[in-house]
Amino acid sequence: MSNEQLDLLRDKLDEVNLKLLELINERAQLVQEIGQLKSKQGVNRFDPVRERNMLNHIAENNKGPFETSTLQHIFKEIFKASLELQEDDNRKALLVSRKKHPENTIVNVKGETVGDGEQRLIMGPCAVESYEQVAAVAKEVKARGLKLLRGGAYKPRTSPYDFQGLGLEGLKILKRVADEFDLAVISEIVTPADLEEAIDYIDVIQIGARNMQNFELLKAAGSVNKPVLLKRGLSATISEFIHAAEYIVSKGNGQIMLCERGIRTYEKATRNTLDISAVPILKQETHLPVLVDVTHSTGRRDLLLPTAKAALAIGADAVMAEVHPDPAVALSDSAQQMDIGQFHAFVDDLIASGLYKDATKTPQ
Ligand code: PEP
Ligand code: MN
Repeated sequence: MSNEQLDLLRDKLDEVNLKLLELINERAQLVQEIGQLKSKQGVNRFDPVRERNMLNHIAENNKGPFETSTLQHIFKEIFKASLELQEDDNRKALLVSRKKHPENTIVNVKGETVGDGEQRLIMGPCAVESYEQVAAVAKEVKARGLKLLRGGAYKPRTSPYDFQGLGLEGLKILKRVADEFDLAVISEIVTPADLEEAIDYIDVIQIGARNMQNFELLKAAGSVNKPVLLKRGLSATISEFIHAAEYIVSKGNGQIMLCERGIRTYEKATRNTLDISAVPILKQETHLPVLVDVTHSTGRRDLLLPTAKAALAIGADAVMAEVHPDPAVALSDSAQQMDIGQFHAFVDDLIASGLYKDATKTPQ
């Protein structure tokens, strides 16, 4: 074949491509018109019977050289693209998505803001064990200019024989400590039945990793007027995590903080694998504050500081870590909680690294 012939055929091919392009777009316009009519009539846009008829029609008229199955595959892609065109982009976007709401959501917890660019530390024991234990940590948290204190009263434990938390008694301790030290408390709620009672004692409802897809709990938390700290599930994808948050917002409560706490992988060197890239992804895709829990993601005291630095550097709105006056005798997570001295060293090191601003010097 001469070069001239080849050029000629290529020119023809380009022409056919343009014709196809024109026809595909003409088809798209027709589909849009049909979509408008259907929405006026209140009829469903996807019509499988109609789609089957169109595919049959194509099969009957196929004269080759393409196989009918190949053509049906190509046409099905065109049908799918057309259907997507009919859907209103805005309607499709989730309430938690940046597409829907470009500005950052700032969660206000008793005057302390999360998500406004100021990076926070959320510290406190794994579980509430006694008034003295929580107060000992609260005193130090307060001394560092921090406002957010964590502590579990209902503990979702792997074994039913492990310490299950003090329940309501624990919430009462948290409230007493919060009032005495003027702190805001975050505590996990594991069942909708406890929510109503708990709400008077805590400032943030934590929904733990094991409950990220407890849809009744998500809906219940979405129906109250109290900030929610939602943790990523043990094996949850980012999309599942975002949809869990959507459950809460869809019920009316938009005060949500997302918390990356490590996911389950084959790696055994850490308790979970901290998915650090989830932080910028969640910040790009949603307008919610994003936190990193360095205690549960690593399960290792020696990794708390480096992972906290990574979290701050990558743009997390807050870092969560556990502190206990005497971790050796802690009733849960004894291997990875910091003692008071380690807590101060942790905060000092973060300040020295330049990644974290000393909260005692920040005007509140
Ligand atoms: C917790 O923060 O107390 C906790 C149990 O964490 P997670 O749900 O992430 O395991
Ligand atoms: Mn813990």
